Amino acid sequence: MLNTQVGVLSCSGEECLGGTLSRLATRKVMEDLRSGRVVSLCLPLYIAGGQEERDFAKVYPVIAVDGCDKCCAKRATIKYSGEVRDSLIVSELLGEDVALSKNVSARSLKQEHYEMVNQVADEICKRVDQIS
Ligand code: SF4
Repeated sequence: MLNTQVGVLSCSGEECLGGTLSRLATRKVMEDLRSGRVVSLCLPLYIAGGQEERDFAKVYPVIAVDGCDKCCAKRATIKYSGEVRDSLIVSELLGEDVALSKNVSARSLKQEHYEMVNQVADEICKRVDQIS
């Protein structure tokens, strides 16, 4: 399975910090830390019926990254493609405050938030490396 492509499906929570961290960390993994090995899947398109995204998740391993324990990304993957290989809940990693923090958009992040992004990205990388 060396260098198998891995899909990372991040939740798209706009209203809480956990969702923002999920998206930014997933992008960092795809564009920088594991470039070429990770494909990010778009949750809204996935839910809206994006066949390409759903088919990818049926063939390749998928890691779901969710901002809170509602697990929207994981539940959507299970519903439409069958399984997730692994998952990560940001509020379990960083504490419930990230699920409760409201209105922290990507444009208003502070240094402490970027450090959280790095932590989440490192956790995603660990899961990718266990797969590929
Ligand atoms: S998992 Fe939580 S943060 Fe992410 S979209 Fe769902 S409710 Fe919002």
